[in-house]
Amino acid sequence: MKIIINVKKLYDYEEVYQEEESDYELEDFELFSEAVKLKGPAHVSFRLSRVRSGIILDGRMDARVELTCVRCLKRFEKDVEAEMHEAFAIPGFEENFEGFDDVYMIERQSEIDIEPALHSNLVVSIPSNPICNEACKGICEGCGADLNTETCACKKEEIDPRLEILKKLKDSL
Ligand SMILES: [Zn+2]
Ligand SMILES: [Zn+2]
Repeated sequence: MKIIINVKKLYDYEEVYQEEESDYELEDFELFSEAVKLKGPAHVSFRLSRVRSGIILDGRMDARVELTCVRCLKRFEKDVEAEMHEAFAIPGFEENFEGFDDVYMIERQSEIDIEPALHSNLVVSIPSNPICNEACKGICEGCGADLNTETCACKKEEIDPRLEILKKLKDSL
């Protein structure tokens, strides 16, 4: 779904800056084969600046997403944020925006679609190993018990690595 911003005044040099602040509905997506669900709209504020070859977008996005914890595999909600720095080129002037990760096009001379830029910034803001809580104990690999809520009877082989070296030394004596 497109999110169109009219930039006619900027395009025609009637204004040099254009400020926008709004809530936008973004679509759910998959990342590392896990569903990322938006919990409500993303709050986005940005400034558009006219430059010779197009328009620069600088701004910030805050969103709440539902992710899967890599330790306990439960779904949980997390606030994410992204700093945005994007270029929208007048068709034919794309090369003038070297150094930008993505260069988007100005459509029909007075409109830009910011949805792809919002989406890619949201994707980048998602942690690659989401954890519901720093203290999450995860799932027992032996029996599958959720160690946050249950205790299991599996034997734990958690030896301090320093103690392990001592143990090896002792065994070799
Ligand atoms: Zn967890
Ligand atoms: Zn277990």
